[in-house]
Amino acid sequence: MSTTRALFVGHGTPMNAIEDNDFTRTWSALGEGTTPRAILAVSAHWYTRGTGVTAMSDPRTIHDFHGFPQELFDVQYNAPGDPEIAELVRDVAKPTLVQNDHDWGLDHGTWSVLKHMYPKADIPVVQLSIDATKPLSEHYDLGTRLARLATEHDVLIVGSGNVVHNLSLVDWYGGDTGFTWADEFDETARDIMLGDPDRLASLREHAGYTRAVPTPDHFLPLAYIAGVSAATGGSVDVFNDRRTMGSLSMTGYRVAS
Ligand code: ZN
Repeated sequence: MSTTRALFVGHGTPMNAIEDNDFTRTWSALGEGTTPRAILAVSAHWYTRGTGVTAMSDPRTIHDFHGFPQELFDVQYNAPGDPEIAELVRDVAKPTLVQNDHDWGLDHGTWSVLKHMYPKADIPVVQLSIDATKPLSEHYDLGTRLARLATEHDVLIVGSGNVVHNLSLVDWYGGDTGFTWADEFDETARDIMLGDPDRLASLREHAGYTRAVPTPDHFLPLAYIAGVSAATGGSVDVFNDRRTMGSLSMTGYRVAS
C-alpha cells in the first residue's frame, strides 16, 4: 500500500476554512487516510526574502486577511510546532540556508486546509517560507531535497497555493467555473504534474502564464511538490480539478510512493 508523501492544495478563498463544500470534503477525506509524524507546510502566504522555518513549539494562528466575517477571525488552529523537524528541515535543505523563525506561525494558507484535513490539530506543523528572490528552479530543487523528510521521517509535505491565481480578474459571482485561458493553463499544468513533473518550469512559456501567475507566490508551492514527486519517483494523482470564480484554480495533487 502506498503512503501519501506530499500534497499540493489549491486553497482558494479563506472562507473555505469555515465552509463545507466539495473542495473541503475532499481535503477531509485526504486527511482520513494518513497520520504522519509531522506536517511541513509551504504556504503562498509566507513569501519572504531568504528562507525561514517556524521553530517554535506553539505556533500562533495568523489571520492574514481583511474584510471577512468574524467567524473566520475566531478560528484557532492549535497544532503544536516541532523544533526537531525544523532542525531536520535546516539540515536537508542545504546548501539552501534556512533560518529559524520564532515570529510567524500558521497562516491561513496552512490552517484553512489543515482544519479540514486534521480537525483535531494533533499533528505537529512546521511552516517553510518561500524565498521571493529565488527562481522557480531553486524552489523545485529544494523540494527534491526536502523529499527525504517524507521518505525517511514520515513528514507529510503540503504545498498550499493555487495553480491559477489572479485576484484582479476574479469574477466573484462566477461560481465554480473558469475562464477559458484559466482552464487551459490548469490543464497543461495537470498534464505535466501527472506525466513529467520535472518539466514544471516549461509552464512559463505557456500563453496563459502571465494571466495565471501574475505573481509567483501562489504558484511556487507547486514547485516543491513537483520536486518531491521527482525525487521519490512517486505516483501523482489529481483532486479538486476545477476552477472557481473564473481565475482561481482549486486543483490539487497527491504524491504517493
Ligand atoms: Zn491564498
